[in-house]
Amino acid sequence: MKIPWQTVGVAAIATVIGGGLGLYAGHNRALGNEVVFISVGQGDCTLITSEGHAALIDVGPKTNSSDAGTNIIVPDLKKWGVNHLDWILLSHPDRDHVGGLVGVHRAFPSAKIIMSAVFQTNRKMLKEFKSARVKSSAIDWVTSMDGNLGVFKIEVRCPPYDPSTNDNLGCMFVHIHDGGASLTTSGDAPKADERAMIGVLNWKAQILHLGHHGSRHSTSRAWLRAVQPQIAIASCGLHNEYGFPTKVVMKKLQDAGIELRRTDKDGDLFYKDVNHKFVRESGP
Ligand SMILES: [Zn+2]
Repeated sequence: MKIPWQTVGVAAIATVIGGGLGLYAGHNRALGNEVVFISVGQGDCTLITSEGHAALIDVGPKTNSSDAGTNIIVPDLKKWGVNHLDWILLSHPDRDHVGGLVGVHRAFPSAKIIMSAVFQTNRKMLKEFKSARVKSSAIDWVTSMDGNLGVFKIEVRCPPYDPSTNDNLGCMFVHIHDGGASLTTSGDAPKADERAMIGVLNWKAQILHLGHHGSRHSTSRAWLRAVQPQIAIASCGLHNEYGFPTKVVMKKLQDAGIELRRTDKDGDLFYKDVNHKFVRESGP
């Protein structure tokens, strides 16, 4: 049996990963080798699909008045022919990233959840898992992982974290590539984490998912030099109260000649892997 994930320096627990995955190969119909930045309002949700496999990085926000998991992500995935998720990677416990878990887990209960081991005792996160009725056996707590999702190599690295600080500081970093088409994401990680992660991996990527929705506390010039993106994505809500993406980050992108796309204005952003390069398309 093919085991797609191989753990590298895993801190805890996750030794049996992706078991039975082959059963579901080819189950998803419509999308090819793609990444989709789903327009979920003020929050994050990125879909990766390849050769019948699919994974999400974050599951969108939930507020008192809206639930992106139930109302946006699940209907969109079904509409696009995604009937099975192999993995749900969660960057960190904030509600704009994990709030949609109840709806997404209900619709895709067999998806393995991957999260940084630094949040293993995070009360906020454990409460989210409880509300979503996620069994502990469904979660792999990791410090780093290397795996494959169809044609894509997925590399996860998690910075160390002091629980007395803001949990943005423990955000998971993910690098996805097929040798050419490539994407780097970092949740809401601030500049200190970007600094800590430079050199840990080759983060060079065609597309950079901007840290913290384009906050001025992320996307340092050093991080831009490390990633060298051609395209930057800001996942943010229309007229969001934080002013994301911020002018200071937009200026840095402009200075470096990096194209900015944003989910609040562009809607869902589909990038198809064409000859080892991500090319924007209108969607299925
Ligand atoms: Zn966020």
